Amino acid sequence: MDSHTEHERRQYIRRSFMQYRFLSVATICAIVISFFMAIYALIMKSSVDFYINIAYILISVGLYFDLKFNSNEKRSSLLFLLFFFIILVILELRMDPSSFGHLLLMVFPLLSYILMGRKKGTIWAIFYTIIMLILNLVVHETLSAWSILFFVLTSAMVSMICAIYERTGEMVISELEKTVTELEIQKQKISDIAIHDELTGLFNRRWFNIQFPKEIHRNRRQGTALGYFILDVDYFKQYNDNYGHLAGDIALKQVSTILQEELRRAGDMIFRLGGEEFGGIAHAEGQERLIGKVEIICRAVEQAQIPHAFQKKPGDFLTVSVGLVICDSPEDSRTEDELYKCADEALYRAKEEGRNRVCVAE
Ligand code: GH3
Ligand code: MG
Ligand code: MG
Repeated sequence: MDSHTEHERRQYIRRSFMQYRFLSVATICAIVISFFMAIYALIMKSSVDFYINIAYILISVGLYFDLKFNSNEKRSSLLFLLFFFIILVILELRMDPSSFGHLLLMVFPLLSYILMGRKKGTIWAIFYTIIMLILNLVVHETLSAWSILFFVLTSAMVSMICAIYERTGEMVISELEKTVTELEIQKQKISDIAIHDELTGLFNRRWFNIQFPKEIHRNRRQGTALGYFILDVDYFKQYNDNYGHLAGDIALKQVSTILQEELRRAGDMIFRLGGEEFGGIAHAEGQERLIGKVEIICRAVEQAQIPHAFQKKPGDFLTVSVGLVICDSPEDSRTEDELYKCADEALYRAKEEGRNRVCVAE
């Protein structure tokens, strides 16, 4: 798992989503508007306006790439608004007071809302409206009915679009968040499956390979005694052959339950290494206690009295043999492979010496 909290992740989704909307709405608006203004200038045979608008198109495209590659949402939003503000002021200065081109001026409050959010966007929109009214008064020396209508229309349209915009945005965000939560649950399930054994529910060998080196290093730092053991069910082939594979599975589950019950200390771990072989990491204060702890597991399996009347060397119940290796010194420099080999050799000895016992590696 990475270190992001759920809250941070949600914030990130929100930010990314807003940025995406910002990119798609604002820059495309700028390019389209500048394009139409350039055509308008061509029709009106105003070469000055035409070149100004071509410059706007280039600036918009530049901004688009700046946003895309630098991902600095705040700076880009500010640059964009300023840029648009200047365009519209020039437009207002050069336009005929009764021109339909005034409709373009409505875009600014909408963009300021999208780019700066509800609060700052409103401040920008009010500031813009005041400047435009002053320009109307100063340049055209009158506050025409048309310009008043324009501002009324602007406010109504902006409020409506903003409400729809916010609502759809929230809907998309909540869908996104739902999907992310579901993915998180799926991810958790998959990683659980990846490290657990299906039959017994114990950790599997893959997790053992990850945890074993970590435990060894941790233990060397702490200086307590760590025991690693391999536990193998005795004469399990005969058990399967006589009682059936299904009964064999049940017996393996019983053994795993006993292991779980006996290894309860924090840091103790049990793994199913494969087949009828289990691995364990056990902690205790000192060698003697550690050996005692593993002996208890061995006895507990025998005392569970799982019937097994088909051993080569007849015994009434199912038993296990254990090879144990102990690390109780920080100077112990054996690698995990060497420790594994030691435990395996001790297990081999336990089998040789008659099974149903614990042998400790030298
Ligand atoms: P030893 O005392 O020397 O360990 O003899 P053993 O018969 O236990 O050892 P061997 O390796 O010959 O046989 C292991 C058997 O374990 C073979 C296989 O049928 C059985 N086995 C392995 N995995 C499973 C399993 O998931 N379920 C069941 N039921 N049996 C399994
Ligand atoms: Mg066996
Ligand atoms: Mg075996």
